Amino acid sequence: MNELSHFVDGQRVAGKSGRFADVTNPALGEVTARVPLASRAEIDDAVARAARAQVGWGNTNPQRRARVMMAFGALINENMDRLAELVSREHGKTLPDARGDVQRGLEVVEVCMGAPALLKGEFTDNGGPGIDLHSMRQPLGVVAGITPFNFPAMIPLWKMAPALACGNAMILKPSERVPSTSLMLAELLKEAGLPDGVLQVVNGDKEAVDAILDNETVQAVGFVGSTPIAQYIYGRAATNGKRAQCFGGAKNHMIVMPDADLDKAADALVGAGYGAAGERCMAISVAVPVGAETADRLIAKLIPRIEKLKVGPYTSGEDVDYGPVITAAARQRIEGLIASGVDQGAELVIDGRGLSIQGYENGYFIGPSLFDRVTPAMDIYREEIFGPVLCTVRADGYEDALDLIMDNPSGNGTAIFTADGDTARDFAHRVNVGMVGINFPIPVPLSYHTFGGWKKSAFGDLNQYGPDAFRFYTRTKTVTSRWFSGIREGGEFSFRAMD
Ligand code: NAD
Repeated sequence: MNELSHFVDGQRVAGKSGRFADVTNPALGEVTARVPLASRAEIDDAVARAARAQVGWGNTNPQRRARVMMAFGALINENMDRLAELVSREHGKTLPDARGDVQRGLEVVEVCMGAPALLKGEFTDNGGPGIDLHSMRQPLGVVAGITPFNFPAMIPLWKMAPALACGNAMILKPSERVPSTSLMLAELLKEAGLPDGVLQVVNGDKEAVDAILDNETVQAVGFVGSTPIAQYIYGRAATNGKRAQCFGGAKNHMIVMPDADLDKAADALVGAGYGAAGERCMAISVAVPVGAETADRLIAKLIPRIEKLKVGPYTSGEDVDYGPVITAAARQRIEGLIASGVDQGAELVIDGRGLSIQGYENGYFIGPSLFDRVTPAMDIYREEIFGPVLCTVRADGYEDALDLIMDNPSGNGTAIFTADGDTARDFAHRVNVGMVGINFPIPVPLSYHTFGGWKKSAFGDLNQYGPDAFRFYTRTKTVTSRWFSGIREGGEFSFRAMD
């Protein structure tokens, strides 16, 4: 059995707590490794070491830190296939999808190569007689990143790259289901020139997270995961006086207007609903066709497309559309939700339950499911399914469709498919959701914009990556200075140069 480790002070370190979690290959349904779960003492030790390392790193000029990012970016590119293989093995997503996972993280590293410009301060000359003001962005010190299973490369990179580029040290606690990618990224950062101790990868579960939240040295916490845990972490971090941004779960709707190109809308829904087995926080899980005719035509176009989807292990080549879900428990939960949808009166148009793939009978595969005539009271609408299940909620008109989204407690992403610019603009302006797509199903903003949901999809302030990340991982100090080169006359300063 492969025993994984932590990565502390630039090297792999065995766990000392005696507690472990199994890491599985979801396509095989087999345990491939076990990962140590850090104790409170191990977290406190890693934080103390990080605090020592941060002093020098925080004083390193931003251009040098940017050079480490440049070298890191080059190493990620060189190791793209190895990283993608690790992602696929522990997560189950297809190799092209895993490469996308690494690539979208790499793009954030690329933005961090511009750290010197992003960290520039502000200056006011002669704000008063002989008085100048300047503000600078200083690192926070030791910060923490706590990440989910569904993007083993991208989200740890969203956390570590801006935090480190700003001069902080980071304690990264990746999901215990997919720890290997973060460990490899830490090794690549060391190779890129990051001083030992500046990035500590500490594996663990709730005990490790609580230790991070209670540690007084940790100044800020960036979390991504499910809504209940995001809310819990935000509350505990804030109570302990930390800066926190905690991104939670989602229920993303896509409105399909009667004037939309229905072939393109159906293609988009299949990709956004079933890609990565629906395990994306930006997946579209609710289709909202406007009008009965649009709904009937849309369902008719979806059925053959969904029936063509190929589900399988990442090892079977590039023609597989999606892989297994993360665990046996996740599959059981998703199949249970599908059963509840049937019980509560939704129309199950395509049933993906009970899929078995030859040679991979123990894998956690689920075929694609499609529901029609879902209502907001049903569990399949109220819960984040996080699986390959698309629910259709029929709306009578555009305002009804918009109300549905506005009333939903989540606000991560949404989309509208329409040929009408007025409707699209109205939607983008009024909808209370953080990321909006117009004829674009998964509107994940590019790395130099910024990513974040509204409502119960995010707790705290500022978004992930882009300029917001540089604000989150620094604090502003403003200096007001006066030099006595002026001559006081009647209580006023006048400058010699002006005399
Ligand atoms: P999760 O909430 O179960 O776990 C996320 C992290 O929290 C992991 O590191 C885990 O170890 C830790 N954790 C779990 N339970 C904990 C507890 N009781 N106390 C303290 N820490 C705990 O989420 P997941 O299943 O790994 O990821 C899927 C979820 O993440 C989905 O809800 C998805 O929508 C969401 N997500 C959100 C975004 C976003 O940016 N909004 C992005 C990706 C995923």
